[in-house]
Amino acid sequence: MICLEVNVNGERRVVAGDASAEVINATVSLYPDLKEGWLEIAGSVVPEHQPVADALWLAAALSAGDVVEVRLLDCEQAAAPNISRTDPTARATDSIPLVCAFCDKSNDEVPGMVASRKAVICPQCIGYLHDIISADS
Ligand SMILES: [Zn+2]
Repeated sequence: MICLEVNVNGERRVVAGDASAEVINATVSLYPDLKEGWLEIAGSVVPEHQPVADALWLAAALSAGDVVEVRLLDCEQAAAPNISRTDPTARATDSIPLVCAFCDKSNDEVPGMVASRKAVICPQCIGYLHDIISADS
C-alpha cells in the first residue's frame, strides 16, 4: 500500500497508512501570533461495511527552524491510526468511539455528551465555551 512517511528534522515521526484509508492529509499549520506551528497527520478510513471514521496518526507541535519532510512511500506496514467518529448520525455497528468534536474525549471518558445532527460535544467543552462567551460580555 502507499503510505506517508513524515520526518521532522531528519527524524522519522510516523509512517501513516491503512488498508481502509480514504484519504491521509499531512497538514502544517502556523499560528504567527503564538509563534507556534502544528503538524497533523490525519484523514479518514472506511472500515468494511461501516460508515467513514476519522483517523489520526500524529499531532505534534513545531518550532521555528523545524524542517518537515513528507514522502510518499510504498510500504507493507504502517502505524495504526487512532480512529473515532464525531457524527452521531453515522449508522455504525462497530466499536469505534464517538468523541467530542472539540477535545476528542469519548463517551466513556466524559459521560453526558450533547449531540447535534453533525457532532457531539462534552460537558467540559460546553463549560469552556460558556466561560469564553461570558468573558466577552
Ligand atoms: Zn470536549
